[in-house]
Amino acid sequence: MALSLEEEDMASAQKKFKVVLADPPFGIEAKGEAVTESPNLGILYIVAYAKKRLPEVEFFYLEPFLSMEEHIAKARSIQPDVYAISFTTTRKELAYETIGKVKGLGLKALMVAGGAHPTIDPTDVLNNAKVDVCIVGEGEETFYELLKNTIDGKPVSDVLGTVNTQKRNDMRPLLKDLDFLPAWEMIDFENYDIAVSKEKRMAYVLPIRGCPNYCTFCSNPVWKLTKPWVRMRSPKNIAEEVNYLYGRGIREIYLRSDTFNVDVDWCMEVCREIEKLNLKGMTFQCNLRADKLNNELAQKLASVGVWLVHIGIESANDRVLKGIGKNITNQDTMRTLRLLKKHDIKVYGFLMLYNAWETNGKLEYETPREVSKTLRFAKKSLNEGLIEYISWSIANPLVGSKLGEIAKKYDIAHHNVRIGNCMKLPSVSERQMIAHVKQGMILQLLNGIQKGMITKESYKRAAQKAVKILNM
Ligand code: SF4
Repeated sequence: MALSLEEEDMASAQKKFKVVLADPPFGIEAKGEAVTESPNLGILYIVAYAKKRLPEVEFFYLEPFLSMEEHIAKARSIQPDVYAISFTTTRKELAYETIGKVKGLGLKALMVAGGAHPTIDPTDVLNNAKVDVCIVGEGEETFYELLKNTIDGKPVSDVLGTVNTQKRNDMRPLLKDLDFLPAWEMIDFENYDIAVSKEKRMAYVLPIRGCPNYCTFCSNPVWKLTKPWVRMRSPKNIAEEVNYLYGRGIREIYLRSDTFNVDVDWCMEVCREIEKLNLKGMTFQCNLRADKLNNELAQKLASVGVWLVHIGIESANDRVLKGIGKNITNQDTMRTLRLLKKHDIKVYGFLMLYNAWETNGKLEYETPREVSKTLRFAKKSLNEGLIEYISWSIANPLVGSKLGEIAKKYDIAHHNVRIGNCMKLPSVSERQMIAHVKQGMILQLLNGIQKGMITKESYKRAAQKAVKILNM
């Protein structure tokens, strides 16, 4: 019997090629943490890029706040032809568990892994999870080609920028044209929240990809596989995205690229394009380097609505800043903090304790005396209103960072149950380290409470952390 037109439509809709892109399911309890501050922009860019070229494909995004049960139930009901998951090294166990459960549904889907960990260590992924292929590096063009080949029934084993159990293909050149918007239409902004913001709702925007610097502790080198290391979008395209988001009700944007002021002239032009939009009530945050801010740019940032900048200060000691390749001095930091204060822009300062580096084949590290100086600097800067918020971390030898290699070479990588991943440094006792972390945490917590700009969830987390540390 012939099918009616309606039945034919339904049958063809059911046959639609379906693609799932997923974050690991962190669950609702992760709300307010960094993983649920923003949707995964890497995924949204991949979807936007592929959607334009493959309009017949249906894309689904399994977002980070889903529970494992919700994630698996969605995968079961969608029955995707391709399932792709993006994750970092710290989340790999959760990702592997998720892949195992999705695979357990008996889907015939091509299983893909991408993001930081599959880029750093595709062999680990292929050995420990049931994935067919890992994407190494930037994903847009590679994922599109994987989809195209799968739809056309062609093999995917030779796709540039991928690794499978049989072979490691060459790297794919980076995209030259970044002037397109992520697939924002997939997102309900009510589901995301950032710890510190002035206005609701808020969203992240990526004006630049990459960073020209090479700080030893940073995992950014993971992405420095091919040049150029820095690519900027056109100021007009960034303004177009700002305007789109404003239309969606967004009133605060965090320009989330590693460093917004990589190129001061370009940065000024971005601000001018945003200013032209004349968006009432729009506010911004951005990440800045402390060595590339002049009075003109600070003034422009203020006039465009930037109220908070995030700066990686790391340490108050020039010896440490030099050792970790930060390429700034404490004087640069002070000059920038004063300039920002003059223009009434607040600062979120990030500090890192007990960093290590290598000079002429010798291990060097921040001494307790130097850490105390950094703590005093932070306290004074908070009192003087040069810094509004602070965040501490203890140097963690991340996989993919230079520090990771140094820690391996000197066998100093360590996990302390109280302070997490850190390093065992010769002649620094764990007691001393814990005492300094405790001081930093207390300062951070009291300041956060005093400033009253932190969400209930982050108070709770900070309080739990502080209680844990106070009990050390
Ligand atoms: S810490 Fe910041 S400036 Fe340094 S390499 Fe990483 S992203 Fe670049």
